[in-house]
Amino acid sequence: MLIDHESLRRVTRAILEAGGSTAAEAELVCDHLVEAHLKGHPSHGVGMIPRYYEALHRDELRPNMEISVVTDSGPLLIVDGNRGYGQAVALQATEMAIAKAQKDGFAVLGLRNSCHIGRVGTYGEMCAEAGFASIHFVNVIGRSSIVAPFGGTDSRLSTNPMVFAIPATDKNPPFILDMATSRIAMGKARVAMMKEEELGDGYVLDADGKPSRDPAVMWADPRGALLPMGEHKGYGLAMVCEFFAGMLTGGGTLQPENQTSDTTTNNMFAVIMDPKRFVEDSYMKHEVDAMIAYAKGSPPADPDAPVLVAGEPERIKRTAMIEDGIEIEENTWEALMDAAESVGLSRQKVAEIQDEGN
Ligand code: NAD
Repeated sequence: MLIDHESLRRVTRAILEAGGSTAAEAELVCDHLVEAHLKGHPSHGVGMIPRYYEALHRDELRPNMEISVVTDSGPLLIVDGNRGYGQAVALQATEMAIAKAQKDGFAVLGLRNSCHIGRVGTYGEMCAEAGFASIHFVNVIGRSSIVAPFGGTDSRLSTNPMVFAIPATDKNPPFILDMATSRIAMGKARVAMMKEEELGDGYVLDADGKPSRDPAVMWADPRGALLPMGEHKGYGLAMVCEFFAGMLTGGGTLQPENQTSDTTTNNMFAVIMDPKRFVEDSYMKHEVDAMIAYAKGSPPADPDAPVLVAGEPERIKRTAMIEDGIEIEENTWEALMDAAESVGLSRQKVAEIQDEGN
């Protein structure tokens, strides 16, 4: 089905409020989820709500939580997400770290014990919008592993994303590199399975450790494994996420002692830097613009596919989807409606809310 983003926002807000979120929290979680669709990452969109509500019903995800400060010392800020919606507590943590960086020039943030923080690029975008360069490493604990180490035949890691953000110049929007360290995010395998599509080669192993193209191996019992991006390099970076986001924040790495529930827990390590403390503003802008122009000036291998920079595909997709609407496959919508019903919001009511703007 095709749904315009305003209708999807109304429906999503209502479902989140029915799940116990205040209007303010529902608004910000909804905004994060719908923006993930608009930026071409439906894997991190409203299709996550059924997973979130499974955790909500187990009391492992708690609406309306505030972060608590564990350490606030010099540039270092470590906060606990208190099992709140990751989109809410990671936003609070990033806002607090930005405020610190505005005062001191930089901040080192550790967020632990947060539920799924969604599209991690969101927090890089917040930093870039405030004029900061930032680096974010995230790991995933609680749930069992889903990514194989390079050379292995079963999973020992998660999709551990990383984000690198550079603020906008007068000529270019922010550079936002936001990527899983697996070849694909788990949600992308879920979307492929929901659409009954095959994956390409080199994305997953089946439960016997053999290469497969079937995304459903990730939901089979026993389960298969996603493969790391870039072979040993992606594997190495996923381990970096474990040590920085898992160990340094105090949140924990994905070793078996920390695989004790079926709920995603994210830990995030971030360094937020004011580029003006490093170099002149005019120099930063000149170098960023010149480098982007140089990279994008490479003659494209396919004349219909110009060279892009990180963050650009998301902006292109957003412009198109604001105009054309967001495509949501039937299985995802059905699961969302079941989740709504599980918190007392009927399909009839959802249909009315969806139609309100028409
Ligand atoms: P992806 O492969 O679609 O994109 C990765 C990066 O590459 C993006 O910054 C994008 O702008 C850039 N890019 C894409 N095509 C490009 C091109 N042609 N030229 C230049 N740059 C290009 O993303 P992914 O690795 O599948 O991750 C998807 C999302 O999943 C991310 O937002 C990530 O934060 C999220 N994620 C979250 C978790 C979690 O636990 N919260 C875990 C894994 C992934």
